[in-house]
Amino acid sequence: MELEGHRVAIALSRSRRRTVGMSLQDGRVKVVAPAWVPLDEIGNILQHKSRWLSARYRDWQQRQANRLDPEQQWAHGAEILFLGQSCQLALCPELQGVVWHAQAARLVLPLSAQADPDQVRDRVHGWLQMQAKDILKERLDILSARSGRGYARFSLTHARTRWGSCTQDGHIRLNWRLVQFSLPVIDYVVAHELAHLRAMDHSPDFWQEVETILPGYKQAQSQLKGVTLDI
Ligand SMILES: [Zn+2]
Repeated sequence: MELEGHRVAIALSRSRRRTVGMSLQDGRVKVVAPAWVPLDEIGNILQHKSRWLSARYRDWQQRQANRLDPEQQWAHGAEILFLGQSCQLALCPELQGVVWHAQAARLVLPLSAQADPDQVRDRVHGWLQMQAKDILKERLDILSARSGRGYARFSLTHARTRWGSCTQDGHIRLNWRLVQFSLPVIDYVVAHELAHLRAMDHSPDFWQEVETILPGYKQAQSQLKGVTLDI
């Protein structure tokens, strides 16, 4: 069927249920119908529900757009995000290791053009995680020194739902994915976690502390809204 100008596949399955149910999953319409409901009636029901399905489809498109690794081929020429900038990926089997050309915003991996997409993604993620370790630690040290709020420990996380966390005893954890954002966004998350050393909640007192550590943090904060980590 057509939703928002796109042809969308319908996956129909029959079940013992009494009514026709539908949902949008992975950009496809999933329909579960009782065995006795004819196809043309299912077609009518879908038409009748097309506005609702269109809204679900738009939500799904928005989530796709907000993913940090947009639906892409993990191959030569792919675009990746690093420090808020779009960078180009290249594969070159003659290389000994990964080479980062900052000026050209180009990341070259020592892999053949036929490399498995999973292998390419793992090498990119591995490289990003190495960068994250240094860059996030550096931002943490700079903001910690500026604010006079010392922390006890720092580690990287691979959390699926959070950008960072801070424990009562000063252990700050930051998500390696942050390195895909610009420095102001990274600094906001760092300031947020440092501010938790003063208040563990999100009270007005807490936000005052964030503002003290990083004046004008709200613009950076808004850039994180709606970005999904389900990757
Ligand atoms: Zn918080």
